[in-house]
Amino acid sequence: MQSKTIWSIGTLLQWTSDFFAGHQIDEPRLSAELLLSHVLNCSRMELYTHFEKVPGPAEIQKFRELVKKRREHTPVAYLIGKNWFFSMEFAVSPDVLIPRPDTETLVETAIRFVRLATTWEKPEILDLGVGSGCISIALAKHLVEAQIVATDISDTALAVAEANARNAGVLDRVRLERGDLYEALGRMLVRPRFHLIVSNPPYIPTGRIAALMPEVKDHEPRLALDGGETGLTFYHRIVAGAPEYLLPTGMLLVETGFDQAASVSALLSASGKFSEPRIIRDAAGHQRCVMATLL
Ligand code: GLN
Repeated sequence: MQSKTIWSIGTLLQWTSDFFAGHQIDEPRLSAELLLSHVLNCSRMELYTHFEKVPGPAEIQKFRELVKKRREHTPVAYLIGKNWFFSMEFAVSPDVLIPRPDTETLVETAIRFVRLATTWEKPEILDLGVGSGCISIALAKHLVEAQIVATDISDTALAVAEANARNAGVLDRVRLERGDLYEALGRMLVRPRFHLIVSNPPYIPTGRIAALMPEVKDHEPRLALDGGETGLTFYHRIVAGAPEYLLPTGMLLVETGFDQAASVSALLSASGKFSEPRIIRDAAGHQRCVMATLL
């Protein structure tokens, strides 16, 4: 006689991680743990200290539904409504791009640069395309004197960013404005000028979106991904507008796609308004950001 499986935390995790692995779902064990700890409202560590515990039928049912959605390639972050970036927790919804470890390079670079610029007592920073707010909020948290203006064209994204800024206790220093890139600033009575402009704009060439993994192409907002035909549309607009909004010797720092840093550097050089652009690599050695200061 076959023994009946008891669906304890331990057996649920094992079954689910095998199931995910069999369907080529990324990080099968981690995904199973994140989904189950979400349903049980506990930490991943607590799963391990309660391996024998048997969740109730309603919890198991809820977990099954999430497992099914994950199997259909919904990102874990959207299923559990949160993600981690720069050692902080961020609420996310399908209205915003999920914060990526890649973007930590931009945040680290900005923090290092602002700390070196000793003349910037109260750094004024502009973040174009705030999304979840991950960049602005991480900067506000680590640069306690900084005042940040962050814009986004999407109202729903701004609502997510606002909730995250409030939760991180930095909403008083992160001013959120609705508008397409610089548009919101144009409406202000006095034109603001910034020491630093940062952005992680949409940069996937339109024709390449269909080839992305289903987690991205079918679930993340197209608005946050689509960089136009060449992928460079937003860089053109950001570079063109930056001189009007930067203080003298202010810096522009943008994240780029893995093969775009040279093109973005060329754009900056061609404008004639910036110093020699610098390309910043991430920990894996990939070109990740481009920065230049206003001449
Ligand atoms: N600034 C946000 C992030 O880095 C959003 C970026 C985007 O939507 N392209 O996650």
